[in-house]
Amino acid sequence: MSSKVPSKTLNNGVEMPQLGFGVWQVEDEEATRAVGTALEAGYRSIDTAAVYENEQGTGKALAASGIPRDELFVTTKLWNSASQTWQRDDVMREFDASLAKLGLDYVDLYLIHWPRAMRDDFLAIWRTFEEIASSGRAKAIGVSNFQPAHLRRLLDETSVVPAVNQIELHPQFQQSEPRAFHAEHGIATEAWSPLGQGKGLLEVPTIVAIAQKHDRTPAQVVLRWHVQLGNIVIPKSVTPSRIRENLDVFGFELDDEDLTAIAVLDEGRRLGPNPDTFDYN
Ligand code: NAD
Repeated sequence: MSSKVPSKTLNNGVEMPQLGFGVWQVEDEEATRAVGTALEAGYRSIDTAAVYENEQGTGKALAASGIPRDELFVTTKLWNSASQTWQRDDVMREFDASLAKLGLDYVDLYLIHWPRAMRDDFLAIWRTFEEIASSGRAKAIGVSNFQPAHLRRLLDETSVVPAVNQIELHPQFQQSEPRAFHAEHGIATEAWSPLGQGKGLLEVPTIVAIAQKHDRTPAQVVLRWHVQLGNIVIPKSVTPSRIRENLDVFGFELDDEDLTAIAVLDEGRRLGPNPDTFDYN
């Protein structure tokens, strides 16, 4: 099944599977089980983060799978917390800790988890990311939850264009402007909470009707919509049947009528925090 997942070529030539497996809100031990099930089902891309506190459990599953390292695509993220302004050494320490927990000597993608622009330190963090990338310990570097204005600063003041921006994106929050900005600058759009966290989106009558029409599930319709838009997508589930179901979206196609019907579901309403104001310690 893994061969059926197409890849996106990132702006530095690295190939990233268009569909991967997310593990937010999965405890460390459960992550070993869920990631194991996902790898068995055919997923090759796993999305974790330092703050999820399951890098160790994820790493265990990667090691136990016996899948060659170069067939896996592992993403983790810097949790640039604490009240200080982040310096090079802070970033290096956190990156080393993530690699150690994952049991890896490189990750495929390393992301700044949130811009925290009010701290005015993401440019400095990004310059350290550039150093990590040039050492080969991250095959690609990117950001998460960056607004176009934040990206604009990176483009103007640093040298590496982020390969990816991972943002909240689903049919009820379609993010047209950021997607257009990414397309213009060669940044891949990765959708977090692609299923709207399973909170109501999958019961929306339009989605249910399209699912019935194609003899698919609502989750498959939503994931297929992402794929056809060109998004990279990382649905999460700990239920083995759903883990398999969410990967099986490459054998059907939504038609123009379906896409038009989904386009009008956009409510412009976030499930998660607003990146312009979100801060954490
Ligand atoms: P999601 O949109 O993937 O929804 C997951 C939930 O949907 C599950 O917990 C389950 O309740 C339901 N679900 C999953 N498959 C289903 C199916 N086939 N049928 C019915 N219901 C189903 O939500 P998410 O976990 O928030 O997002 C996915 C991943 O995105 C995360 O695990 C994480 O890796 C990443 N993420 C990143 C950020 C960020 O700030 N960068 C924020 C949130 C999530």
